[in-house]
Amino acid sequence: MNNEMLSFGKRGNPICDLADYARKRKKEIGFENVYDFSMGNPSVPSPSIVEKSLKEILETMNPTDIHSYTTVAGYEYVRKEIVKHIKETNNAILDHNLMYLTVGASSALAITIKALINKNDEVILLAPYFPDYVGYIENAGGVVISVKSLEPTFAPNLDELESKISDRTKIVIINYPNNPSGAIITDKEMKQLASILRKKEIEYNHPIYLFSDEPYRELVFDNEFVPYVTNYYDNSIVSYSYSKSLSLPGERIGFIAINPNCKDANDVYTAVVGSGRALGYVCAPSIFQHLIPKCLGYTSDFSIYKENRDILYKALKEFGYELTLPQGAFYIFMKSLEEDAKLFVERAKEYELIFVPGDSFGFPGYVRISFCVSKETIVNSLPSFKRLMESYK
Ligand code: PLP
Repeated sequence: MNNEMLSFGKRGNPICDLADYARKRKKEIGFENVYDFSMGNPSVPSPSIVEKSLKEILETMNPTDIHSYTTVAGYEYVRKEIVKHIKETNNAILDHNLMYLTVGASSALAITIKALINKNDEVILLAPYFPDYVGYIENAGGVVISVKSLEPTFAPNLDELESKISDRTKIVIINYPNNPSGAIITDKEMKQLASILRKKEIEYNHPIYLFSDEPYRELVFDNEFVPYVTNYYDNSIVSYSYSKSLSLPGERIGFIAINPNCKDANDVYTAVVGSGRALGYVCAPSIFQHLIPKCLGYTSDFSIYKENRDILYKALKEFGYELTLPQGAFYIFMKSLEEDAKLFVERAKEYELIFVPGDSFGFPGYVRISFCVSKETIVNSLPSFKRLMESYK
């Protein structure tokens, strides 16, 4: 077997391990007595248009067509509709010929990273970051360079970012609204980031791709503006997923979109197609390809997450925890009550509170609390959070 994969497998996944622990504990002491904030699994049902459209597809389309292989990049009519919608909503000009439908954002990330880097190329991540980026980068032979975001807002640290760009830098990955901090990059920060990258591209005489991973794009709580990367920077690529916006994480549907103004855009796209084939990610799930055009512009009811956020944030502040109000996504990134967040997570388990250490997100000293759970879980967990705080006094 491949020893690198063996050791990657052995490294495990702390988020899944904690979710497994929560499942086991629920069996032991009862579902309602365990407060599981480990996973980012949407708890709000899909909008009704999803069920209606699925029925329509099954009842009106030829069954063989519904279940057939699609083109490698996905149905052309689906890509055209998505591109039209993005133009209408974000005023962003994309090209369906430079779009590749994927098996969720995960495969969009794995494909794109593999398509863009060569051995020992560097990929800059802005910590805290989605842990799976590391596996995709290492599997493609790349090197992770981490830039810590600014506390307590988790805005990008652009000075540090600039200082860490080298002649080996190929990609900067951004993710806003951010998992795990809920931060959103501002228009001004995005302009500054684009200008730094343009300057460095000239200095090193090769493209530095700005890759925006945005499965939480619509999940914002106070009408915040989320900049669309292709409107700011030519050598940019978007990865998107319907996992969170339509509460369809198990159905595995998303896309890669390359900015038509990207240098050698057609070659970048061809490399994406090659990478998709090499990794085995061809023709995304057919039924869900057909579903997407019918659901563009719809989302699950995010007001439920907002209510959860507000209840949890207010209570945690009152108890004396240090945290910043997340602007989007469905996570709170809270300061650990002791230096080693892993020990804090272990102590929290004694109060039946399950959340994830920031170490997994490249940002020790914090924990991630996923509030995509029922309101009842949030409300019932509050006395435990209070007792956990008291245990440190
Ligand atoms: N990127 C980020 C930032 C995520 O939080 C997630 C999932 O939680 C993904 C990518 C993967 O999304 P998908 O379920 O569409 O593969």
